[in-house]
Amino acid sequence: MPQVQSIREAFAEASSFLSGLGVSEPQRSAQLLLEHTLGLSGAAYYMALADPFPPEKRERWEYAVTKRASGEPVQYITGEQEFYGRVFEVTPDVLIPRPETELLVEAVLRYAAELWPQGVAGGRAAGASDAGEPGERAEGVGDEGELGGAKGDASERAAGGGYAAARPGRRLTVIDIGAGSGAISVTLAAEAPAWRVLAGDISPAALAVAGRNAERLGAAVELRLGDLLEPFKGLETDILVSNPPYIPGGDIAGLQREVRDHEPRTALDGGEDGLDPYRRMMEQLPLLPAPPRLVGFELGLGQAEQVAAMLKAAGHWSEIVTVPDLAGIPRHVIGIAR
Ligand code: GLN
Repeated sequence: MPQVQSIREAFAEASSFLSGLGVSEPQRSAQLLLEHTLGLSGAAYYMALADPFPPEKRERWEYAVTKRASGEPVQYITGEQEFYGRVFEVTPDVLIPRPETELLVEAVLRYAAELWPQGVAGGRAAGASDAGEPGERAEGVGDEGELGGAKGDASERAAGGGYAAARPGRRLTVIDIGAGSGAISVTLAAEAPAWRVLAGDISPAALAVAGRNAERLGAAVELRLGDLLEPFKGLETDILVSNPPYIPGGDIAGLQREVRDHEPRTALDGGEDGLDPYRRMMEQLPLLPAPPRLVGFELGLGQAEQVAAMLKAAGHWSEIVTVPDLAGIPRHVIGIAR
């Protein structure tokens, strides 16, 4: 690249270079990479546009633009992606958090607030008195359906019999299956600090990223290595949330090259019809002492009906809701046991 004079010119040059190569979102890419290289963001970036491009940053800048030119997602170059108002570290070991997944987090928080009004607003789960001692927790096993609330026990027990229920001595417990960067689990832990949040993943490298995100965002998340529900065997679970791989294997070749060539295949490939992880999670459900009262899943185009049917067939959730994404595609399926 020829010498550039100002930051604005560096932006223009990189944009047209990337655009000429057919790289997607050339302008947005150029701006994000510039902001990252210069350590500026938002207003500070715009105010610096007329400044000379700092010569000591040139090598780093050209390296970043070259990587983007080869199709690498901007987020793997900057190492960051914002999610639900927080900046997450991302590496090629994890799927880049998508904006639509924020809607899954939002739906889980909303339905959880309905199911456990005290659990979200009041810190602890409904009726919970104090942090459970290990002994107390063990005692609780086998009490499924026993709700902690002082009022309405009879009717709630009738409605919720057989389901995991928040009780005194046990915090509302959430598991995130296939946690990746920890976008979902870390956000839930940060938004609802009273909950016990656990993140599972089959990839140790992904769990390491999730752990760093939890740490840097000050969220308490317990990490569990293993396949889907396996690492949560025996855990009383109130909420299960998952954005597993759900792309049909045969569709991977047709994905945008940023995704196909750079994001982890294990985070994308859901088997022949993309629904293997869902079938396996349903099969593994008996590993938990009782079905979680709230489940929230992300899925792809044309899969909502099938996943809703799977949940219905499992028979544990009285209400099944489909949530559209910003493009109007049914993107999340929520199961609720009231
Ligand atoms: N939403 C991602 C994509 O379209 C896929 C994520 C997933 O498989 N969980 O690339």
